[in-house]
Formats: sequence, structure tokens, C-alpha cells
Amino acid sequence: DRSLPISFMCDRAALAAKTVKGHYMKSYAFYDDKMRLSIENEQNIINEMSDALENNEFVPYYQPKYDVKTNKPVGAEALARWIHPTKGFISPGVFIPIFEKNGFILKLDEYMWEEACKNIRRWLDQGRSVVPISVNISRYHIQHNDLEKALMELIHKYDLTPDMLNLEITESLFLDKPEELNRVLDRLQKLGFKLEVDDFGSGFSSLNLIRNISVDTIKIDKEFLDSEIASEKGKIVVNHTIGMAKDLHLQVIAEGVETKAHVDFLKNSNCDIAQGFYFAKPMPVPEFERIAF
Ligand code: C2E
Ligand code: CA
Ligand code: CA
Repeated sequence: DRSLPISFMCDRAALAAKTVKGHYMKSYAFYDDKMRLSIENEQNIINEMSDALENNEFVPYYQPKYDVKTNKPVGAEALARWIHPTKGFISPGVFIPIFEKNGFILKLDEYMWEEACKNIRRWLDQGRSVVPISVNISRYHIQHNDLEKALMELIHKYDLTPDMLNLEITESLFLDKPEELNRVLDRLQKLGFKLEVDDFGSGFSSLNLIRNISVDTIKIDKEFLDSEIASEKGKIVVNHTIGMAKDLHLQVIAEGVETKAHVDFLKNSNCDIAQGFYFAKPMPVPEFERIAF
């Protein structure tokens, strides 16, 4: 576009150039408005995130986890939702990766943990039989070693015990610095927190991980279960993964459970807990309270 100022043209050329950086076989690229829009989108999210947290635009949703044998809720996972005043619902698939890049995930996660603790305290005071809430832990928290301190402060502030807050740590984190992670997890476990390996089976280190790391639970990745279960080979892999985990005295959760066929298969495979749309979607707190206790 010859009517554009040269500085704009250069910016756009630079954007296009970035898309081929590191590609051995590609030496040119064309600029496309989508490149600029996605960056503008990201910039908008970054500009708004702090105020959004202040203004309670982030809302914790809870997705219950069910005992496969009894069909009773035995826990729940806290998942963040951004209810934007003008844009409406923004998916975590959009904002979480940005926050994981710029570190804001520390703030959001701590907010999610505190909300979970607050809710648990309220449920206890109301005399409900509370189930543990699982919260997500991100890479940033493992690298900043005040994780235990932050969690224990919350536990004390709301007069809870660590076994009420389970910690989900995604499998890919185990690739980074296994020794460092091991040390952190060991200390958390000694304090009484239950540790869940999230997205188990999605990486290449699953077997090493299950051999070397001391955790309480594995959560078999939803993609894995969903796409593999249809095939006979897939079934065998999932079935034996569950068997192996049980022999190692690990609890097994299957996520992304969407159909009756999934449930029947999991029951036969001796899986302990299931989470997914078949049972319930992630839901706001009042709704969760109606079904969970
Ligand atoms: P995740 O931890 O693996 O969470 C499970 C995701 O699967 C959630 O997506 C949930 O809504 C979705 N899901 C649950 N049941 C089913 C099902 O039966 N079928 C299918 N297809 N999907 C199901 P969501 O809420 O969009 O979250 C996406 C990811 O964003 C999460 O994946 C997690 O990694 C991250 N995330 C969400 N909230 C938080 C948070 O507060 N903190 C951190 N650090 N990460 C979060
Ligand atoms: Ca999770
Ligand atoms: Ca997962």
C-alpha cells in the first residue's frame, strides 16, 4: 500500500519477517493484516488485564470430578473465566498463554487460589461436606520459589489444611528442570498438599516421569483419551496406563470424559475419577454449590 507512511511499511515488513524466523527452508514471507490484528489483540489484553483483575472480571468456575464407581462428586477443578464488560466471554485458551508469557499468570493464579480458599472456608462454616478444590500451578510459580510460602499463607489465613487444596502441575513442566521441580514438589507433598500431574500422556516424558517423580495422582490428558479411545490400540494404551499407575499406588483421573462409552470403558479399566462434559461442565460457584454437596 503505497499510501502508507514508510515507518508503517517497515513495521509490517518486520512482522512478516518474524513469521519465518528460525525456519530453515523459508526465506521470505508476505504481510497479512491478521498478523497485526493478533498482536493488537494481545496488546489489548495486556493493557486491560490488571484493571480486569481489580474489577473482578475474572471469575472462578468449578468443574466437579466424579468417583467413577459411585457417581458422586469427590473434587473439582478451578478454571478461570474472563467476563469482559464489553467483549463478553473471553476463553482461557486466549488469555492464559499470554499471561504465561508475560508473568501475569502469577497474579491470576494467586487470585484463583485465594478464591478457592475463601469458598472452602465458607462451605466449612456452613457445615457442608467439602470436597477438595484443585488449582492450576504454572511454570512461573515453580521458578519463583515463594510457591510454598504463598500457598501456606492462604491455608493459614483461611484456617484450612493443605489436603483441601490439590495442585495440578502440567506434564510439560516436568521436562524443564526436573531436579528443581522435584525439590519443590517434595516440599509441597511433605506439607500435605496432594499433587496431580495434569495432561499426562501428552508429552514424551510420561514414562520417565511416572518412574522418577513422587506425586499422588495422574490426570490422563483429554486429547489422548478422546482421540485414542476409538481405536483398539488406543484402548490398550489407556487401559495399561491406568493399570500401571494403580500398581504404583497412584490415583487416576480421566479428563475430557464426554460419553457413556467413555465412562463404561473407564469403569472397566479401574479408573478412579472422571471429569468432563458427560458429568458436568465448568460452572459458576452458586451452581456448583447446588450440585456438589
Ligand atoms: P486444563 O487444565 O487441561 O483444563 C481442562 C480444560 O478442559 C478446561 O478448558 C475445561 O473446560 C475443558 N474440559 C472439561 N471437560 C471437557 C470435556 O469433556 N471435553 C472437552 N473437550 N473439554 C473439556 P478451559 O477452561 O478452556 O481451560 C483451558 C486451559 O487453560 C486449562 O487446561 C488450563 O491449562 C488453563 N487454565 C484455565 N484456568 C486457569 C487458571 O486459573 N490458571 C492457570 N494457570 N491455567 C488455567
Ligand atoms: Ca488443569
Ligand atoms: Ca488437563
